[in-house]
Amino acid sequence: MNEPIVIVGAGLGGIRLAENLRNGGYDGDVVLLGQESHPPYDRPPLSKTVVTGDDERVDLKPSEFYADKNIDLRTGTRVVAVDPEAHTVTVVHDGETSAVSYGTLVLATGLVARRFPGTDADVRGIHVIRTIEDALALRADAASATRAAVIGAGFIGCEVAASLRKLELPVTLIEPAPTPLAVAVGATIGEMITRLHREADVDLRVGTGVDNLVVADGAVSGVELSDGSTVDADLVVVGIGGYPDLDYLDGSGLELAPREAGGGIACDGVGRAADDVYALGDAANWTDAHGDHKRVEHWNHVVDQAAIVASALLGHPITHQAVPYFWSDQYGLKIQMLGAPQNDDDVHVVDDDGRRFLAYYSRDGILTGVVGAGRVGKLMKTRPHLLTPTPIAALLGE
Ligand SMILES: Cc1cc2nc3c(=O)[nH]c(=O)nc-3n(C[C@H](O)[C@H](O)[C@H](O)COP(=O)(O)OP(=O)(O)OC[C@H]3O[C@@H](n4cnc5c(N)ncnc54)[C@H](O)[C@@H]3O)c2cc1C
Repeated sequence: MNEPIVIVGAGLGGIRLAENLRNGGYDGDVVLLGQESHPPYDRPPLSKTVVTGDDERVDLKPSEFYADKNIDLRTGTRVVAVDPEAHTVTVVHDGETSAVSYGTLVLATGLVARRFPGTDADVRGIHVIRTIEDALALRADAASATRAAVIGAGFIGCEVAASLRKLELPVTLIEPAPTPLAVAVGATIGEMITRLHREADVDLRVGTGVDNLVVADGAVSGVELSDGSTVDADLVVVGIGGYPDLDYLDGSGLELAPREAGGGIACDGVGRAADDVYALGDAANWTDAHGDHKRVEHWNHVVDQAAIVASALLGHPITHQAVPYFWSDQYGLKIQMLGAPQNDDDVHVVDDDGRRFLAYYSRDGILTGVVGAGRVGKLMKTRPHLLTPTPIAALLGE
């Protein structure tokens, strides 16, 4: 009997791969191992509609999906070791340790949220946001909080700030960089997104880090900033990113990408990490078309990788033509980016009403990306231009 395809990580990447395998005609065994107690669920709503209470639906598939597709989903099952030579993983379920054999192994174990140093202990009012439990706990605390501070104005920090403002909590958003989101979208566009927060009366503290969290009687009461000021807050959200927790690969011999290349499981351009071992999603670091290692933490990127790995496993040609894409929802606007512009690319703002905007990026006269807020249709129309080299002058009508 052929050994199954075993997927570790029952999140977005894991379930998409399992589904693609079935849709692609694979009729062997598929085992999906997940340490959380839930079937696969979606994370983008966690910082948005789950925090605001507008919509709590996060399941990626209806409950009957797993039986219908003959996918052996094992929740509450943590993989603690991988042995590529023996083709086994060691799992812990309900305190019992056992081995699961695989023919092919796919690792899709995502990230864990980074906590503020020294706050691992159970201090009331301090939150991170990676799991559904995190989001529900944040929402519950927000209901009785009087003042919130969000540490880190990346996309998730900005979304949480917007969600807490929707709940009418006063919010201070703290960011060490001079312009929020500049690393992702450049300083010009970062500023155009930041103005949404100013308009919503978020107290923005940029160019300053956090030295310490003030804790009294087991609860947080404020945030001490490196500029010497203190922000009062009985709700603190730490939005300083996440990291792949890959301790379970210790001793496996699998290669990890260097930290300066983003860390994660080192893979080739189709997700292959070793013989019969693949990795995808937030935890994986694939080699890009230029031979560089890159780890990306965006929903569509995970979906694209799941399609590519499925094709590789099924021996199908890899025809998928991905244009990098991500979105964020803040203050009722959909902020989207297509392409992969670099930080110092030229920026051409072509439409701006003070809130909604559309801008192109170019390098050496060629379009490299498009970013917009509240301009969904116009932005998506530019996608074909990113599949072939397109002179920016043609789009600007010069
Ligand atoms: C709050 C939030 C908001 C987001 N919003 C957006 C957005 O607006 N737009 C966008 O493009 N992207 C967004 N993202 C990013 C997107 O959700 C992720 O890129 C995507 O979820 C990654 O999928 P994944 O399968 O790699 O990992 P995950 O979805 O994290 O799934 C990994 C699973 O593996 C499990 N696991 C880990 N280790 C083990 C182990 N040893 N054994 C068994 N199971 C294990 C984890 O518990 C988890 O359930 C957001 C992410 C978060 C957290």
